[in-house]
Amino acid sequence: MHEMSLCEGVIQVLEDSAKTQGFTRIKTVWLEIGALAGVEIEAMRFSFEAIKKGTMAEDARLEIIDRPGQAWCLPCAKTVAIKQRFDACPHCGSYELQVTGVVVKPSRTPS
Ligand SMILES: [Zn+2]
Repeated sequence: MHEMSLCEGVIQVLEDSAKTQGFTRIKTVWLEIGALAGVEIEAMRFSFEAIKKGTMAEDARLEIIDRPGQAWCLPCAKTVAIKQRFDACPHCGSYELQVTGVVVKPSRTPS
């Protein structure tokens, strides 16, 4: 499952930042999921619950932030908001868009 490997990546990033930032416990994991990321949020929650066991995120709560779809417009040279993967740029009408906003960002709640 796509979400399963995404979650493995999330735990990996968390454990790496734990090492560099010197924390040992994670209370909350925030994920920003772009609308065009092709990620099922329910599958993501399910995978997280399964994968966190035995890791330092074992007691962590998963918070998911839905982000609107975004793309990089080559002619405009900026990020624009789109609703679907094959939408045209709302500013110049170009189809030379590269979909972004598909990043899953784990982070620690500032304490
Ligand atoms: Zn444009």
